[in-house]
Amino acid sequence: MTDKPKEACGVIGVYGYPEAAMMAYLGLYALQHRGQEGAGIVSSDGEKIYRHVGQGLVNDVFSSPNIIKKLKGQLAIGHNRYSTTGADQKINVQPILVNSKEGPLALGHNGNLVNSRALRDMLQKSGALFQTTTDSEVIVHLIAHSKEPDIVSSVKDALNKVRGAYSLVILTKDKLIAARDPSGFRPLSFGYLDKGHVVASETCAMDLIGAEYIRDVNPGELLIIDENGIRSESLNGNNEHAHCIFEFIYFSRPDSRVFGEYVDKTRRKLGKRLAEEHPADADIVIAVPDSSNTAALGYAHQLGIPFELGLIRNHYIGRTFIQPQQKIRHFNVKVKFNPVGGVLKGKRVVVVEDSIVRGTTLKILTQVIRKAGAKEVHVRVSSPPIRHPCYYGMDFPTREELIASSMSVEEIRKHLGVDSLGYLSMKGLLSAVPREGRGYCTACFGGPYPVPVEEIFEKAQYENPFQEIF
Ligand code: SF4
Repeated sequence: MTDKPKEACGVIGVYGYPEAAMMAYLGLYALQHRGQEGAGIVSSDGEKIYRHVGQGLVNDVFSSPNIIKKLKGQLAIGHNRYSTTGADQKINVQPILVNSKEGPLALGHNGNLVNSRALRDMLQKSGALFQTTTDSEVIVHLIAHSKEPDIVSSVKDALNKVRGAYSLVILTKDKLIAARDPSGFRPLSFGYLDKGHVVASETCAMDLIGAEYIRDVNPGELLIIDENGIRSESLNGNNEHAHCIFEFIYFSRPDSRVFGEYVDKTRRKLGKRLAEEHPADADIVIAVPDSSNTAALGYAHQLGIPFELGLIRNHYIGRTFIQPQQKIRHFNVKVKFNPVGGVLKGKRVVVVEDSIVRGTTLKILTQVIRKAGAKEVHVRVSSPPIRHPCYYGMDFPTREELIASSMSVEEIRKHLGVDSLGYLSMKGLLSAVPREGRGYCTACFGGPYPVPVEEIFEKAQYENPFQEIF
């Protein structure tokens, strides 16, 4: 239906708040864009642990207030899942919950490990029985196998063995532990909720529940929140920071603050830089909604061209969409986007898109825009060409499927059938993101892979040999 990389999960943790599970639920609702395959919450009342997980959107999984009521306690963690490693199956929905020698332990993970296969093999050889096909479960087993004397040092020990991207929330009976990998690939913010504390992938989750953002969980930091207060510890590794620059381009919500900066502000700058690099002689600027709206505004504002709503997006397409038996031309794209004829007719149109992956959806969209009466169609992309896959928690297609890996910009223009095409340069991209004390991963655009990728994993390698029937 779409031709976008898929987000790779959202996490939230709440400590010291009477309705912790309710706050986690609301936070997951705000983070829905980061994962739509499954959702779950684990809570603790200090004595017992409660868990509810399921496949589908947050509202599908938590379909009744009674479910939330049963998730008792002042401590809860939640997770929205999109599978980058491990199949889209119920067994893989997080938070994972196990009973370790330290007591019950639950974990929610955003990111992707790059050495999980080797660790999994090693653990299985020493007798570990894996319940899921996710890389996240490797962390749980490493914690359980650790010889360290307490849970915090066991978590530290485990995280010092894994490599790659992780923003984690971990729950024990009486502790909330948040951790971020030393490169800081994925965002993780920390804040106050009355007298309690919250960690969340994006600050939009905090806004919804009335929490106050204080700071990011730092790259390589372990934050332990319990009855003794808040404690910060450091993980090994002095990696340069490698925040995923794609969080600013596309993944994070524009109303969020990630890596210490407002996404909206940065995304507007991307549009502004794009306009400076690739102006167009046009009547209107439109966006491919919703993710390109902000960059399109920046582009239009910079050139003084009116920004118009030329495409309307249908937000209500569920996971199970019934397809018509009769073939309708370009149905899969048209069901999601419809052109506004009155806006487009007779106009020279600039279409701003945040990124091009395969180019399949954009090709059809530009045809649809032309058919609606546009005189000229100019495409502007607020990121550089994507030429390489991501191994740090975004689900990109294979390199061969990425249109820019085999075609020049001019070839892509011809393929799309548009009048002109301009991508933002890497220099332009780096000039738009906040730099002070921060470093970015740009590997999918041709930059170096900041953490060596030890294994090229395919989802199929992690396929579960069992088929569960629910
Ligand atoms: Fe983000 Fe691209 Fe790096 Fe993946 S490769 S972490 S999508 S910048």
